[in-house]
Amino acid sequence: MEKFILRSKKLKKISLLLLLLSHFAWASIPVQHTPYPGGIAVFDFETTHSNPKAFYRTVPLYTQHIEGNHWQVLLGIPLLEKAGKKSITIQDFSTRTLDVEIKIIKNKPVKQNIKLKGKNKKYVDPNAAHMDRIKKERVILGKTRLFFSDKTLSNGVFIRPVLGVITSPFGVKRLYNGQPRNPHTGIDYAGATGTPIKAPADGKVILSGQYFFNGNTIFLDHGQGLISVYIHMDKRIAKQGKMVKKGETIGTIGQTGRATGPHLHWGVYLNRTTVHPNLLMGKSVL
Ligand SMILES: [Zn+2]
Repeated sequence: MEKFILRSKKLKKISLLLLLLSHFAWASIPVQHTPYPGGIAVFDFETTHSNPKAFYRTVPLYTQHIEGNHWQVLLGIPLLEKAGKKSITIQDFSTRTLDVEIKIIKNKPVKQNIKLKGKNKKYVDPNAAHMDRIKKERVILGKTRLFFSDKTLSNGVFIRPVLGVITSPFGVKRLYNGQPRNPHTGIDYAGATGTPIKAPADGKVILSGQYFFNGNTIFLDHGQGLISVYIHMDKRIAKQGKMVKKGETIGTIGQTGRATGPHLHWGVYLNRTTVHPNLLMGKSVL
């Protein structure tokens, strides 16, 4: 019996150690190097510095420790980026530059024409009062996308915020009633109104509000310019300024704002640019 207790104590110690180790191992996000529009360029570098910083021009970048002296910088590439060289700056004990070649992948162009009828027509041809509202909201939403916190809030690989069929993938070209608009900056998941939406990782609610195009919206900050956004929600549950845990319900699926049916639009920002959300879930996107 005593032997068993001893052994179980030892096991407890080992499992605690494993838990700690797995926590550290999961603290970084394994991201596929995708130096393409809408992708993430991954820069590996070595340093003995405990807190190296990285920048694209003046924009601070997501930096993660892998192990030992191995560090990584993640650079989100805009969807409308052109091919060519991009350079980032690393600051540790000195300053140096790393380069990456951005390539364009020639996929079959996927187009989606969305038809908005009846009172939904205002989302294609907004009137003067709507335009006033849109302009004001653009400032608030733009500011939120610039948000950068030094903290690493993220606990590794993201989980899907909802299950459900993808009705509009990331990056598709879009037309509204035949009028061309920007490519799709997130993933749309279909779901019944009221379906809970879960936080994909630990984060802080940096904005919660109702907007003309986005409807009920929440922005989560996961640290270092990694931000996720949830739009067209029915209910906003997580409160602005509060911390949320991975898996916690932040709101429910709805069809508020410019939406033709109940769905969640999920977007992920890295250094102020929308990237393919699958990359944060440790998935391959090619
Ligand atoms: Zn969408």
